[in-house]
Amino acid sequence: LRSLLSDPTLLATKAYVAGEWIDADDGATFEVRNPARGDVICTVPDLGRAETARAIEAADRARRDWAAMTGKERAAILRKWYDLMVENADDLARILTAEMGKPFAEARGEILYGASFVEWFSEEAKRIYGETIPGHQRDKRITVIKQPIGVAASITPWNFPNAMIARKVAPALAVGCGFVARPAAETPLSALAMAVLAERAGVPAGVFSVVTSSRASDIGKEFCENPIVRKLTFTGSTEVGRILLRQAADQIKKCSMELGGNAPFIVFDDADLDAAVEGAMISKYRNNGQTCVCANRIYVQAGVYDAFAEKLARAVERLKVGDGLEDGVTTGPLINEDAVKKVEEHIADALAGGAEIVTGGKRHELGGTFFQPTVLKGVTHDMKVASEETFGPVAPLFRFETEEEVIAKANDTIFGLASYFYARDIGRITRVQEALEYGMVGVNTGLISTEVAPFGGVKQSGLGREGSRHGVEDYLEMKYICLSV
Ligand code: ADP
Repeated sequence: LRSLLSDPTLLATKAYVAGEWIDADDGATFEVRNPARGDVICTVPDLGRAETARAIEAADRARRDWAAMTGKERAAILRKWYDLMVENADDLARILTAEMGKPFAEARGEILYGASFVEWFSEEAKRIYGETIPGHQRDKRITVIKQPIGVAASITPWNFPNAMIARKVAPALAVGCGFVARPAAETPLSALAMAVLAERAGVPAGVFSVVTSSRASDIGKEFCENPIVRKLTFTGSTEVGRILLRQAADQIKKCSMELGGNAPFIVFDDADLDAAVEGAMISKYRNNGQTCVCANRIYVQAGVYDAFAEKLARAVERLKVGDGLEDGVTTGPLINEDAVKKVEEHIADALAGGAEIVTGGKRHELGGTFFQPTVLKGVTHDMKVASEETFGPVAPLFRFETEEEVIAKANDTIFGLASYFYARDIGRITRVQEALEYGMVGVNTGLISTEVAPFGGVKQSGLGREGSRHGVEDYLEMKYICLSV
């Protein structure tokens, strides 16, 4: 991998704690593997609670001067960080593809997407406005100021090794917090590369640390039990989110949770079918189906069901599966063997219940964790694909008759992250977008993620919002000041 990089120093293999590149106290390491080939890329330090505590303490010391800077001063440093990410996008994308598997073009897209949050929040750093409120008594003057919450800590998954961290660290640093990131053990290299560039951009030592560790629950405990940490921000499964919320309860820590989804993607009779197929391709097969906003259940109205299934299958057959670093590849491997087993289990369960394969359905001939992009029809609500996130390249097509029926089915889940539908009738569009119990709705589009909009879920999909002007709020506390004159 190093030989593919124009700047080999971006491939950092030590942890970044308190402004220093360190090994674990006990010298322990863990391996980072390339999921396309199964080979070991490198090892990184396997830190524990002691090193994590040092990162937290350093963040606490460093954040005071950082917060004392003007918003404009912090903005200049963050802007520099953004510029460096964009300048080095190709190298960052190669590192990302190597450790995670998504195709190079998609990885590069993720780098620019992640960087866009750094740009956005560098701008927002100057706009942390408070409020004045007319007093409730003649001698009272009321002001509200917003202050950084303190040290924030993040735990993130492997599916977006750069962007999941960027969405959190950028608003935190913009408002003057210190930040400790623990990237997923599968994908620490993208996080470390971000730290290399943060250092170059002039982010002061200690303000941002990256704790590499294979022992997620130890690090999670340190984040929850260390009283210096005032804010925990997590992206991952609802299951782990629940554990962290319970742990964070002891010290009443503020939490942001971006958890699982079970996105419905609805195609009504009046939809532009080609556009719906295009949207479904992006929403379902981007990142090989491994995103929390991926279409998980595709509902197609009876009148267009067969036509949609046919068109979707033809589009899916044009995908090219392979090593993401090779030209023309659109679909990489799944992250690991467990992910493949889950996909196989969901397909087997659907077939046992009477579903049929339209295309795909099996492990790919390339072997390893490659899987054929799959379309299933005749899928019904009692099957696992209806209630669980598949997190793989399987499009299950459910048939429905009426608007009321599909809204009820779409909402029949504990999750409420992303949802999508395709229709033309303006009355229907208005009714359906209001009725879907989701934090985000894509209407006639399969791609909704952007730094300018608030990303987040309702129900058991999460707490808080990332991106947009609202994204800073998760890292701020309000202080009400009552002055008697
Ligand atoms: P995913 O299926 O995307 O890996 P998880 O919720 O299992 O979703 O993992 C998300 C992140 O949370 C990963 O970085 C993982 O290592 C971490 N994690 C898993 N279990 C725990 C835990 N008990 N405490 C803290 N972090 C955890």
